[in-house]
Amino acid sequence: MNYVATIGLEVHVQLKTRSKMFCACPIEYGAPPNAHTCPVCLGLPGALPVMNEEALRMTALTGLMLGCDIAPVCKFDRKNYFYPDMPKNYQISQYDLPICLGGGVPLHDMAYPKDAQKNIAHPDKVVHLTRIHLEEDVAKSQHFETSTGIDFNRAGSPLMEIVSEPEIDSPEEAFAYLTSLKQILLYGGVSDADMEKGQLRCDCNVSVRPEGESQLGTKIEIKNMNSISGVRRALAYEIERQIAAVSAGGKLQQETRGWNDASGQTFLMRTKEMAHDYRYFPDPDLLPVKTDAFMDDVRKRVPELPSQKRARFVSQYGVSSYDAGVLANDLALSRYFEQAASHAKKPKNVANWVLNDLQSALNNSEKAIEDSPISAESLDELVNLIDDGKINSSQGREVFNEMFAHPGKSAAQIVEERGMKQESDLGAIESLCDQAIAGNPKAVAEYKSGKLQAINAIKGQVMKLSQGKANPTVVGEVLAKKLAL
Ligand SMILES: [Zn+2]
Repeated sequence: MNYVATIGLEVHVQLKTRSKMFCACPIEYGAPPNAHTCPVCLGLPGALPVMNEEALRMTALTGLMLGCDIAPVCKFDRKNYFYPDMPKNYQISQYDLPICLGGGVPLHDMAYPKDAQKNIAHPDKVVHLTRIHLEEDVAKSQHFETSTGIDFNRAGSPLMEIVSEPEIDSPEEAFAYLTSLKQILLYGGVSDADMEKGQLRCDCNVSVRPEGESQLGTKIEIKNMNSISGVRRALAYEIERQIAAVSAGGKLQQETRGWNDASGQTFLMRTKEMAHDYRYFPDPDLLPVKTDAFMDDVRKRVPELPSQKRARFVSQYGVSSYDAGVLANDLALSRYFEQAASHAKKPKNVANWVLNDLQSALNNSEKAIEDSPISAESLDELVNLIDDGKINSSQGREVFNEMFAHPGKSAAQIVEERGMKQESDLGAIESLCDQAIAGNPKAVAEYKSGKLQAINAIKGQVMKLSQGKANPTVVGEVLAKKLAL
């Protein structure tokens, strides 16, 4: 029997505000433990919360980018449970009136894992969202050998929860969903969404059922995933585990599981019997929020989205849709490209240099595009020298390597220093061609007898005679004329 899987994701996103959700403590990643605390975020008795309006605006902005309906009124509720990293014994969250409803995350080819991009089951799929709400993050426990420490720097940071409908069919789609969502969050500047820093965390709900069956199988949750590739692997493992259990006649129970990345397995954390009853009720310290007051401002902040950027790169710069996809996948890379291409004669050639030579040089030296030794303006200058026929492309590669090794040196300076100017003078090239024709009677005869590729040997000879400086296009044209059949 064939089985199908159904996956829904709950993504927690740390917003990039300067201060916390209900107090003025700053948010700073990597600060010494408990450096940023006050009576409000420590949960001391009698302390009163004050709402961070920018966090509300960022959540509404996320909603607009994802096509959600923004609720005219939303409110905050207390989610009651006891945990050492939350001394109030409740978390301020949103229950029945969240700020955003509906919407969706568009999946695109380039968001899938590389090895799955050729085999996409549902191209242009949109995974619908249930809701987006805003809450406060909890503190962080650190377990030592005989004790546990709690760091309250994170406590009370604004945390956005994005809940998808159970519409994801495979681990690869889950990967594409997270990649696409992360891109949009970065485009909007609402979060740095760095999973390694815990700025984007994901819980996965997954069930399996026999193909053709409409009733969903038993839902099992995998908690606290902290990498996109980990989500893919955990889901692949869990789907296989559930199918094996069900097809052997077993019955699954609703439970929460963890993921051990090292062993590549999920493990049982708790079953449904241990589930909390959160006894939500409206937080009496916080008034409901009318979103109309700030939505005009928020609408102005909606940026060009990844899908719009991809389409614009194709129409404005004439790059292929594949290249546009690779560029738009990375906001910093797309900014670099656009800066380099804005004055370029042939933007498509700039794209080639960025995607091939520059990216591989950056990879080899483990540098990010933001730290590129070659500025966008310098790359533009280099590509223009080649496009104007001042130097040929193999000389261009030499100049590129020199620029990469010695930041600040301009392409023109290196061309000058190395005496590299390309020879395009027709008279000079004609005389070199004559020499090469005279010196290669065998290749000439072969060419004249119809073996057209024999011209390459003669062309190579001309390039050698010119010490690599001849313009290869002009050489090709002159030789073809001189050897005309
Ligand atoms: Zn505080």
